[in-house]
Amino acid sequence: MRRAAPLVALLVASGAVFADAPDTSLRPIVRPAILETEQPQPVAPARALYTPTRPVARPADLTQITVRSPAPVQAPAPARQTGEGAGQHRPRIQQPSARGGLMASLRPLLRPLGIGRKAQERKRKLARGAVCGDMAIQGEEVGHVPGRISGCGIDNAVKIRSIGGVALSQHALMDCQTARTIKAWMQQGMAPAVGGYGGGVAQLRVAAHYSCRTRNNRKGAKISEHGKGHAIDIAAFQLRDGRTISVLNDWGSGKKGRMLRKMHRSACGPFGTVLGPESDRFHRDHFHFDTARYRKGSYCR
Ligand SMILES: [Zn+2]
Repeated sequence: MRRAAPLVALLVASGAVFADAPDTSLRPIVRPAILETEQPQPVAPARALYTPTRPVARPADLTQITVRSPAPVQAPAPARQTGEGAGQHRPRIQQPSARGGLMASLRPLLRPLGIGRKAQERKRKLARGAVCGDMAIQGEEVGHVPGRISGCGIDNAVKIRSIGGVALSQHALMDCQTARTIKAWMQQGMAPAVGGYGGGVAQLRVAAHYSCRTRNNRKGAKISEHGKGHAIDIAAFQLRDGRTISVLNDWGSGKKGRMLRKMHRSACGPFGTVLGPESDRFHRDHFHFDTARYRKGSYCR
């Protein structure tokens, strides 16, 4: 836009020369032909200016720029401007100004605006579903979840639908610290372990999340971290191409087995407790991750 000002000044200044030029001048006859080849689809209002009553030779664009022209410059084919930002610019086009000719081609200006608008809309949608102050963590705020028995329950619980674009097969109740830890592990442990295999992980198959119960459902045992919103059990990883990496079927064998072992190992540290098929008979078919903290560090088996 900054370059346009001197150009306009030049054209306006030369307008007088064109106005006084005799009809027989060769230049105006040649110009329109060139302009037409440069613009394979001339806009309709511009073409209307080529009427027999006017000097044959006056090129459309230069005519619009000439200050003498009394007719208001019309918007170039406004019906086709379907971009989101089109309406906003219309008043500027309708003003009979010396810059009308140059402003006639708005498309290149509008396109980036439209794209920016869409990106912002997508951000707003994400923000509406964001919890824990993180756009990548999508779900809803639940608030206080009372425990059925003493020791259970969650303060400021969230129900998580997806993390970093990876869906959870069942919407999982937990606290924000656990949600953030899952996100960090997905980025730093899960994603590198799976890489581009099967297009990457599309969904976590969640076997359990919040549940007010004792450890491994045994009578007299301590309240499980599941009863505090600190834990998630993952049975499998659904890939984008439809295949599955399953803890029960793939642990300890082949390429998928190696991926599972990497995922299990990388969870140790971010999570306080990491249990897999080699820990006990209760975890043959899933990983248990929780955010309980122990003085001796993480417990991983
Ligand atoms: Zn568990």
